[in-house]
Amino acid sequence: MAGKNLCSGCGLTFGSLGAFDMHRIGSYGEAIYKPGDTKRKSPIGQAPSTRRCMTLEEIQAAGMKQNDKGWWLTGQMGDSNPWANAEDEPVEANS
Ligand SMILES: [Zn+2]
Repeated sequence: MAGKNLCSGCGLTFGSLGAFDMHRIGSYGEAIYKPGDTKRKSPIGQAPSTRRCMTLEEIQAAGMKQNDKGWWLTGQMGDSNPWANAEDEPVEANS
């Protein structure tokens, strides 16, 4: 996978796996155990899965940003296309 993550749930494209993960929220549906079942070997049920995509408003509220390709990024340091500025890296001349 080279950086691009298209979500089949909401149809948005994410520039990194971190950004993709960030827009997926809610519980996977965890196993439920009896109180006192400290060994947690025999679940008595499972919580309903509430896993879903963030809405566009939630994505923006989370501080995610869209790049010029329309890909969503987390907006955090280091979360950008590694090759996006590869050719623009400043080269300092020795003084
Ligand atoms: Zn999605």
